[in-house]
Amino acid sequence: MAQGKPRYAFFEGKIVPIADAKVGVMTHALNYGTGVFGGLRGYWNEDEEQLFVFRPHDHFERFLQSAYMMRIDLPYSATELVHILLDLLRKEGFRENCYIRPLAYKSTEMIGVKLHDVDNALTIFALPFGSYVNDKEAGLHVGFSSWRRVDDNAIPARGKVTGAYANSALIKTEANLAGYDEALVLNSGGHLSETSASNVFIVRKGVVITPPVYADVLEGITRRTIIHLLREELGIEVVERDIDRTELYVTDEVFLCGTGVQIAAITQIEHRPVANGVMGPITQRISSLYHSLVRGQVEKYREWLTPVYAKRTEQA
Ligand code: PMP
Repeated sequence: MAQGKPRYAFFEGKIVPIADAKVGVMTHALNYGTGVFGGLRGYWNEDEEQLFVFRPHDHFERFLQSAYMMRIDLPYSATELVHILLDLLRKEGFRENCYIRPLAYKSTEMIGVKLHDVDNALTIFALPFGSYVNDKEAGLHVGFSSWRRVDDNAIPARGKVTGAYANSALIKTEANLAGYDEALVLNSGGHLSETSASNVFIVRKGVVITPPVYADVLEGITRRTIIHLLREELGIEVVERDIDRTELYVTDEVFLCGTGVQIAAITQIEHRPVANGVMGPITQRISSLYHSLVRGQVEKYREWLTPVYAKRTEQA
């Protein structure tokens, strides 16, 4: 993963050099996982010399919902957060793809596990970023995690709560140390939920199926995008329903989606090839549509993209 470093951060209400964006060791969120975050991507379009942020308003809406669940009051609307982000990105001046991380957290330096009467803070930073999982031509080889996905009745599953990512970290490391690229994770009901950091889709006899929002999944912005594109652009039926473990063994295609992973085919599950072990046709079609769309090459969906820089003036 080609990953650069941020030069600036939005911190304590203004843009500062990244070296000045620091917190103390007693910070509540560092001790208790009482933060929420987001993850967005900016895509560089070389022809237009433009950086496009994908669905920032939707990402910040979910970010504010996550904050609300954790009683983190932020004095900003989603629209204001988009403007702060655009200022930050212009200051960074990226001319390449980037990843954006907003983080809201309980900031008081104190001992005491609770959410009330603790101060809140917001930071946003962004860094140059290639792809997240190696988009291996061969597709990903995954296993089933021995960990269950954190239950919505334990920690809000539809919120991106920092503490809940201990679950994702356990899942990812177990998978990687066992030789897998990722892991499929079951929820406490024993049905498929998602992976450490992406939503899962399967294809059976031309129908695309994905776990429902009540399967302890994060309500992914990419998931929502893919469901829409499959139905409206590719005319493919999409069903949201529980998926059993053994269904995964007998599907025609499996793919992951998320801001980080984008779209990644799973071609092997626990040493069993998925169908004939290569990326399937629906995964290929949705992947190529997604990749051109996020770079601004699909006119109809330019509304999902927010340009960072002023338009180039046409040469006379
Ligand atoms: N599930 C989890 C647990 C995640 O961390 C992510 C990444 N944010 C996703 C799914 C995908 O969500 P999105 O498409 O909004 O990036």
